[in-house]
Amino acid sequence: MKIDSFDPPMRILMGPGPSDVHPRILEAMARPTIGHLDPEFIRMMEELKQLAQYAFQTRNEMTMIVSGPGSVGMETCFVNLVEPGDKVIVCQNGVFGGRMKENVERCGGVAVVVEDEWGRAVDPGGLERALEANPDAKIAAFVHAETSTGALSDVETLVRIAHAHGCLTIVDAVTSLGGAPLKVDEWEIDAVYSGSQKCLSCAPGLSPLSFNERAMSIVRNRKTRIQSWFMDLNLVLGYWGSHEKRAYHHTAPVNALYGLHEALLILWEEGLENAWARHSDNHHRLRNGIESLGLSFIVPERERIPHLNAVSIPEGVDDASVRSRLLNEFGIEIGAGLGPLAGKIWRIGLMGYSSRTRNVVCCVNALKEVLS
Ligand SMILES: *Cc1c(COP(=O)(O)O)cnc(C)c1O
Repeated sequence: MKIDSFDPPMRILMGPGPSDVHPRILEAMARPTIGHLDPEFIRMMEELKQLAQYAFQTRNEMTMIVSGPGSVGMETCFVNLVEPGDKVIVCQNGVFGGRMKENVERCGGVAVVVEDEWGRAVDPGGLERALEANPDAKIAAFVHAETSTGALSDVETLVRIAHAHGCLTIVDAVTSLGGAPLKVDEWEIDAVYSGSQKCLSCAPGLSPLSFNERAMSIVRNRKTRIQSWFMDLNLVLGYWGSHEKRAYHHTAPVNALYGLHEALLILWEEGLENAWARHSDNHHRLRNGIESLGLSFIVPERERIPHLNAVSIPEGVDDASVRSRLLNEFGIEIGAGLGPLAGKIWRIGLMGYSSRTRNVVCCVNALKEVLS
């Protein structure tokens, strides 16, 4: 047997995530591993928490990093907040809303799904009607940026409607955090989770998460024990909660957290508003290029995620061969469609460090060459 060290090819990551990891982050992750209860590590975690609070625009004490990808962040919200028999309204306009429904049911809850067209934002009217029809609903859950279709929903309005009906809110901000305006405190989101590998441009595998006091009081006052030991926030808090007496819960992914610290520091240095503006500017550049090739977007302009562009595949063009030529000849990765949109759209991501003018120009020119 002859196996060499793995040496990945150079790529430009312009799919639905992971995005290109900033060299500063790769360098941070290569630093020496120290103990996860080392005082210096604990100091780094305190900074990490402050940086995550900034990114989420929240003062929530319960802001932490889940040791697992965005899917574990999602599951952490549902297992902690949904008890058997609880009714949860789930707005679904793509793949990730479907996963929320799965989570509710696996927690023993009853999911009431409000379906919206794939490629459109969640319709606030649909949520309102579902809440009126289900006055016993306890939680409303929705995805801010539905990465499977490129649609961005109006979370501020959805949260306001849910609260008017006495519902707690769970928001998926995996693809929106750092790329599009997200204001957890101002919009009064109760529980929110994200991911490290989209607009934060960190390596995959971590999920920033934040719960407000209202959500935490539900966690503390549950009638039943949380079925997951690993994700039980009452236990995780012993590690992430107060830094005086941090106790072992699980071994933190030390070097991965160095990477996220650097990623959030880069975002803080750039400034959230500037990062949002950069994502929006590059979206407009890409849009001009895509339209000049005669291609079109599936999402109406005002409902688009700036950094996840869902483009219709023209009649007679072979989806897989275009993507593989982009990858093999130009080193550019773009995403395929999922579920009912498979074979119908390409998903071009401009997230985090990938959101650069150079990449827009490369991608549009490579597409032009491949399509001609
Ligand atoms: C990517 C993504 C997830 C899942 O994140 P993983 O890190 O792949 O587990 C969840 N929700 C949305 C909207 C996403 O884009």
